[in-house]
Amino acid sequence: MQIEQNTVVTLHYTVSSADGVEIDTSKNGAPMTVLQGSHYLIVGLENALQGKKAGDEFSVDVEPELAYGERHEGLVQSVPKSMFDGMDVQVGMQFRATTDGGEQSVIVIDVDDEKVIVDGNHPLAGHTLTFDVEVLDVRAATDDEISHGHAHGPGGCEH
Ligand SMILES: [Zn+2]
Repeated sequence: MQIEQNTVVTLHYTVSSADGVEIDTSKNGAPMTVLQGSHYLIVGLENALQGKKAGDEFSVDVEPELAYGERHEGLVQSVPKSMFDGMDVQVGMQFRATTDGGEQSVIVIDVDDEKVIVDGNHPLAGHTLTFDVEVLDVRAATDDEISHGHAHGPGGCEH
């Protein structure tokens, strides 16, 4: 069976940056099970899965616009340190913040006595990503899965 809209795909993946550094892999644990077309995966990876079948292994480079988007320097903002209310703010800390663009996750990229510089970009924004994928299983989605918009069972939504 080929992967198409409303099939459920079980796969292993490893994602690396363009310079070959591994970012994440499913291979340390159970494979992932996803509903094709649900956009649970980034668009570039869903596109690459289309038409593949169980047993296929492939590698695909995904440009930022089909992954986590381009970086927007406007999402890097300077915040007065006084707003952090005496917290011990450190580079690398993540917060949920309410900004002009709505609620978003920001990461602290710099801090000094007066101000904290936060970055609201997704950590992988602006990166071309390489996915190494192994398709383990492809099956038709059930009516429940299609109406819920996600895969059920091991590796998917257990409920
Ligand atoms: Zn469900």
